[in-house]
Amino acid sequence: MNERTLTIAKRDGEHATLTPEQRDDLAGQLDGSLLEDGEEGWEDAALIWNAMAATMPALVVQPSSARDVAAAVAFAREHGLLVSVKGGGHNIGGTGIAEDSLTLDMSGMRQLSVDPQARVAHVGPGCRLQDVDRATQAYGLATVLGFISEVGVAGLTLGGGLGYLTRRFGWAVDNLVEVDVVTADGEIRTANRTENADLFWALRGGGGNFGVVTRFTFRLHEVGPTVFGGLIAWPFERADEILLAYREITVGGPRELAVWHNVLHAPPAPFVPEEWHGKKLCAMAVCYSGDLALTDEVLAPIRSLSDPVVDLLEEQPYTQLQSYLDETEPKGMHYYWKTEYLTELGDEFLSVLPELYATCPLPGGEVGILHLEGALNEHDEDDGAVGNRDARYVFGVKGMWEPDEPEADSYRQWVRDAWERLRPFSTGRTYINFQTTDEGQERVRASYGANFDRLVEVKQTYDPDNVFRSNRNIRP
Ligand SMILES: Cc1cc2nc3c(=O)[nH]c(=O)nc-3n(C[C@H](O)[C@H](O)[C@H](O)COP(=O)(O)OP(=O)(O)OC[C@H]3O[C@@H](n4cnc5c(N)ncnc54)[C@H](O)[C@@H]3O)c2cc1C
Repeated sequence: MNERTLTIAKRDGEHATLTPEQRDDLAGQLDGSLLEDGEEGWEDAALIWNAMAATMPALVVQPSSARDVAAAVAFAREHGLLVSVKGGGHNIGGTGIAEDSLTLDMSGMRQLSVDPQARVAHVGPGCRLQDVDRATQAYGLATVLGFISEVGVAGLTLGGGLGYLTRRFGWAVDNLVEVDVVTADGEIRTANRTENADLFWALRGGGGNFGVVTRFTFRLHEVGPTVFGGLIAWPFERADEILLAYREITVGGPRELAVWHNVLHAPPAPFVPEEWHGKKLCAMAVCYSGDLALTDEVLAPIRSLSDPVVDLLEEQPYTQLQSYLDETEPKGMHYYWKTEYLTELGDEFLSVLPELYATCPLPGGEVGILHLEGALNEHDEDDGAVGNRDARYVFGVKGMWEPDEPEADSYRQWVRDAWERLRPFSTGRTYINFQTTDEGQERVRASYGANFDRLVEVKQTYDPDNVFRSNRNIRP
C-alpha cells in the first residue's frame, strides 16, 4: 500500500482524503485486492471500452466474494465516498467508473456453474457474455444475451438485455430467475419473484441503482449448438429494395430467425472484396436458431435478394455467431450512439433512412435496426422494470472514430442530426443500455415510461441516500 494520503471523491461532490491506515483497514477486510494508481493490474482495472467516456477512479476494490462487496460498500458509506461498479466496462456512457471514485471492479468474480437438469446457470458478476455462452453451450443450452462477446453480463442484464434470442425468449431479464445483491445498507440479500420481490422487480431493468449484484441465475433454453447465420451484404444503391425486403422478412419469419439490418461503410476486412472497401453497403446479420432442416425455406426471402457482394451465411456454432462481430467494435475508440424503439417499419421511416445515410461522412458511421418482436411483447408492461413491451424493433445511429480525429465534432453532429430525423418514428422510448454521457434525466425517464415512478419507490426503500448513483440514475 502506498504511504501517501489519497484524495477521493465523496458523494456530496466534495473530496476527502484517506490515510494509508484507513486504506489498510479496508484492505484487511478483503479476500480480494485493493489497488491504487501505479500498482500492478491498475491499468486494466481502470480501463473502459469507450475512450470518449473514460475517467479515472481514485481507488479500486477487486472483490472476490459478496462479503468483500459488503465490506467495500460499508467502508464507502462510513466515509461518504462516491462509489462506482464496473462489470464488463462496456457501457457507452462510461458509467462503470466515476471520476475519483471508489470503484468496485467485479472482474475477479468470474465464477460460473451450469445445472443442465434444472436448466439454470449461476453467473458471477465479472463474467463476459462469452463465458456464459461457452459454458451453457457445452450442454446445448443458452440464455438471452447480446452479440459482442466481451460485453459484461452484469450491465447488459441489469439494463434489460437483448440479442438474437430475444424474439424467442424475451429480454435477458425475462430469463432472470434470482440474484444475490449487496444493498446500500451492506446487507447481502437474495431476490426473486417471491423473496424481496420489489427489489427483484427493480433489478430486472433498473440498472445498478439498487445495489451490487454478486450472483445472477438465468433460465436456459435449448439452442444450437449449431445454428445458421452470419453476414450478407449488398450495394447501398439497392437500399430501397433491401429495406423493403427486410420488413417483409421480419414480418413473415419465424421467431427462430433474428435479423439485424445495418447501413454501413464496408470495413477493409479480408472477407470484403477489395473494390468494396470503404463503400456504403446494406448488410444483414442473421441468426437462425431453429430446425436446421428448414434453413433453406426460412432463408429463402434473404437468398432471393440476389447478387450480394458479401455472403458469409453458413452453419456454425452458436458461440461463433455470438463473437464474430467482436472486432467491429474495438476497445479504445471514441463511440457516440443514439437509440430509439419502434413498433413498425413504416414507409416513411424506410425512405428517410437511406436518404440520410447517403450523405453520411463518417467512415465508422452506421444506422442499425434490430428486430425484437416476439416473446417480449407477450408480457405485461410492468413485468419487471424493463417495460417497453410494445417494442418490435430498436434502431441505433452509431458513430465510431479515432481518439485524435479532427472531424470529431462534425461526426458527432451527423449522428445527432440523423437521430433527430428518425426520432419522430420512435415509440418515444429508448434503451437505457445504449445511452451516452450527454443524455440526461429525461432520457432515463423515457426508458421506463410508466414503470419509472415505481422504480423511484424501490430506490427510496433500498437506497434512500443514493449511494449507487454512478449509473443511469433513478431520481425522483
Ligand atoms: C460493443 C457493444 C455491444 C453491445 N451489444 C449489446 C447487445 O447486443 N445487447 C444489449 O442488450 N446490450 C448491448 N450493449 C450494451 C450493453 O448492454 C451496455 O453497455 C452494458 O451497460 C454493458 O455492461 P458492462 O457490465 O459491460 O458495463 P459496465 O460499464 O461495467 O457497467 C454498466 C452499468 O452496470 C452497472 N453494473 C455493472 N456490474 C454491476 C453489478 N454487479 N451490480 C450492479 N451494477 C452493476 C455499472 O455500475 C454501470 O452503471 C453493447 C455495448 C457495447 C459497447
